[in-house]
Amino acid sequence: MKILVLNCGSSSLKYQLFDMVNEEVLAKGICERIGAEGSVLTHKPEGKDKYVVEKPMPDHSTAVELVLEALIDKEHGVIDHIDDIGAVGHRVLHAGQKYSASIIVNEDVKKVVRECFDLGPLHNPANLIGIEACEKAIPGKPQVAVFDTAFHQTMPEKAYMYAIPYEYYEKYDIRKYGFHGTSHAFVSKRAVEFAGLDPDNSKVIVCHLGNGSSISAVVNGKCVDTSMGLTPLEGLAMGTRSGDIDPAVVQFIANKEGKDINEMLNILNKKSGMLGLSGVSSDFRDLWAAAEEGNKRAQMALDVFCYRVAKYIGSYIAAMNGVDAIAFTAGVGENDHDVRKNVLSYLGYMGITLDEEANNVRGPERYISTPDSKVKVMVIPTDEELKIARETKALVEA
Ligand code: ADP
Repeated sequence: MKILVLNCGSSSLKYQLFDMVNEEVLAKGICERIGAEGSVLTHKPEGKDKYVVEKPMPDHSTAVELVLEALIDKEHGVIDHIDDIGAVGHRVLHAGQKYSASIIVNEDVKKVVRECFDLGPLHNPANLIGIEACEKAIPGKPQVAVFDTAFHQTMPEKAYMYAIPYEYYEKYDIRKYGFHGTSHAFVSKRAVEFAGLDPDNSKVIVCHLGNGSSISAVVNGKCVDTSMGLTPLEGLAMGTRSGDIDPAVVQFIANKEGKDINEMLNILNKKSGMLGLSGVSSDFRDLWAAAEEGNKRAQMALDVFCYRVAKYIGSYIAAMNGVDAIAFTAGVGENDHDVRKNVLSYLGYMGITLDEEANNVRGPERYISTPDSKVKVMVIPTDEELKIARETKALVEA
């Protein structure tokens, strides 16, 4: 079966077409600047040249049409007919408290995605348009929604409740939800397999460190805590997001600078984190380069990032009363050996010893702790698209 995986962001659409016989990627690509000037589709068919389409994409449904055209294009396509696509798996941001697993889309599921527009204002509307565009373009083919929040629904109340008046939870479902769930599920499972742990007696911490970053604590395959919250703004310092701050900072700056709450949230989401602290970039490669040239603010931003990752790891070891394995994943977690080294330098007391040589080697899944380290530390590349494709296949074939 061939499965198309769609990930609709606020102004982008990423896709991969899988042949599930051997889980091979036939083509992948991205539509960028949807709804803005200069929208462009970059299509990469396996074994063929890159194909770039510069056409107006006023909305995600036009983008879906262009993707489907590219997939069946005589020269650049990888399938003969749109009907060759057996099912579509959609990454959907927010399911509130409604779903703790992926689900085949029907009218009720679409209603839930719509009800959660408030909780995921940038992504859920785009996700729904993606679903409806596929229903129109490939009628009758099953569509599966894979939610970013689902894996974290097993968190206990004590982990997800905010200590604010209970009525806001009752009225508006205000609580911690957590994100990157597909990645945390994929990586925590692989970590257990890779380390040969007993799946029913395992404590794992997953550090998903990318442009957006989050950490989760997973006991026996179930998430018990995670760093992102009602929205992805909570938790670690990130590329452009502040992560945890004293909420009173918002009022203070708003009053001093004459900004409203939306402007403040925009600053905390888009202008803070590594970018805001360093004034250089949100990209860790740029930050290390600047730090090496003596840029103190770039070094400080990196220090803030690593310190906070280490603090979260420490707090999750306390929450789980132990840890068997720690896995690093995503753009920074997989590639940045300096970040990993810096984070782990705080954790010697926990019985963690870094294998410097292994840490410096690039490669697939591997240990970066010494054989005698009390806790196994590893790098596990994430593959959210493959996980979405697998879940889609499993549901469609069930
Ligand atoms: P997201 O999915 O949240 O957009 P990714 O997981 O793709 O993010 O991570 C992107 C980030 O990974 C980049 O912003 C960059 O900071 C970092 N990154 C990618 N490659 C490297 C590398 N070789 N060394 C250090 N950081 C890297």
